[in-house]
Amino acid sequence: MEPNQLWQAVLSEVELQISKPNFVTWLKSSRLLNKQDGVIFVGLPNNFAKEWVENKYNKIILTALRNLDDSAKKIEYIVENKFPSSAKGVKNKKVSVGETGAVDQLSFNELKIDPETNLNPRYTLNSFVVGSSNELAYAAVSGVIKEVGKKYNPLFIYGGVGLGKTHLIQALGNEIKNLYENKIRVKYVSSEKFTNDVIWAMRNKRMEDVKEKYRLTDVLIIDDIQFIGGKEKTEEEFFHTFNALYENNKQIVISSDRSPRFIPTLEERLRSRFEGGMIVDVGYPDYELRMAILKTKLLERGASLPDNVIDLIASKVQKNLRELEGILNKFLFYKQAKNVEISPKLAEEIINEAIQQPTKNINPGQVIKAVADYFEVSPSDLTGRCRKSSIAEPRQIAMFLLRDLLDLSYPYIGEKLGKRDHTTAIYAYNKLSQEIARDQNLSQKILAIKDTIDKK
Ligand code: ADP
Ligand code: MG
Repeated sequence: MEPNQLWQAVLSEVELQISKPNFVTWLKSSRLLNKQDGVIFVGLPNNFAKEWVENKYNKIILTALRNLDDSAKKIEYIVENKFPSSAKGVKNKKVSVGETGAVDQLSFNELKIDPETNLNPRYTLNSFVVGSSNELAYAAVSGVIKEVGKKYNPLFIYGGVGLGKTHLIQALGNEIKNLYENKIRVKYVSSEKFTNDVIWAMRNKRMEDVKEKYRLTDVLIIDDIQFIGGKEKTEEEFFHTFNALYENNKQIVISSDRSPRFIPTLEERLRSRFEGGMIVDVGYPDYELRMAILKTKLLERGASLPDNVIDLIASKVQKNLRELEGILNKFLFYKQAKNVEISPKLAEEIINEAIQQPTKNINPGQVIKAVADYFEVSPSDLTGRCRKSSIAEPRQIAMFLLRDLLDLSYPYIGEKLGKRDHTTAIYAYNKLSQEIARDQNLSQKILAIKDTIDKK
């Protein structure tokens, strides 16, 4: 068994379960060192990481590991002194076309996050596959690269989880960095990181440092801006940074999981600034794009899968390209490391197991709240007897989702949502089930709501 591949598969599983910043900080550079008598030895770069991973992620990692390798009993985390902290020498590392080589190269690339720009070189425009759901966003990004700070400013890209926003805006940063040979200073930051910087600065009375840091860039890329909404001091600071940069014709690029109109806590003046620039969305990938991305990722890894398996993955995994990639890794693992022939039945099982997971621990209250948030109404509008026509659609969608996600009984759903008869709930479920297939608009709404539930 190839330890590297086992570990890649474990990581792609874990990546779906913890936040991206945490994953990148603590686990991305981990590696499997050895395996003996059911004990898995995992290397981490320092004590800090060891403690953190042991305390917070051991359980998740162990579960993922056991799913793939049932001989695994426990994990020992080891601080590696010789850890390849810089990517020196790695660049010239000869990568064989063989499958292990490709996996190796991918994990080494992850280590190369540029400390200056925070960009991960793995995200390139070259590796970004364009389809009808992302071509506008792609075009806007290309426009920015050609005329930095002039054409589309700020550029605001929004869309659901795992649809390629981070990939696209990081690729924009990498492209500018390479094209202009570092003459244009780029900085990429998650809004979580930005918030932490502001909090740190307030505590340490070092606000000037933070201001400097961000205002000295030519291209500021902020990922997942929705998390800033409602954090007053951070918003304030971001607003000032934004203005300072904007007035100096610096380029600002922002991503969000929803359009500025739907970030309820966002200050009006920020919202209107965003609306003054270019706003584009990335939608859910159609079947063709999903196929194309799967094939590209396989090429990147120097691997292959039978056509019917690729087809099955593309048909079943519809709304999240990160999930698509996670599942792909899992298949490669089964095929290569475990040396199992993938029957259609096994393929189906692998996929079902992977896509069910995120919705396991949700309760009806969360579903109702997610629907209410999406439509900007209050949950009690949905659960109460209110008969306003504006509530009709949200309530039907809530009914549909309670059935679809939680498999609750119709009488319960009817009672819960406005004390309706069970036939109302049955009607809503049947109606929406049929409409989803025809009505793109409706299916997008429902997928967007499901996304916010999954993220909880
Ligand atoms: P988001 O930031 O919207 O949640 P990401 O950019 O993290 O999504 O994308 C999730 C995964 O899917 C990443 O590994 C990314 O490389 C891949 N991906 C998304 N869109 C594309 C695309 N159009 N072409 C190639 N890979 C993609
Ligand atoms: Mg992202």
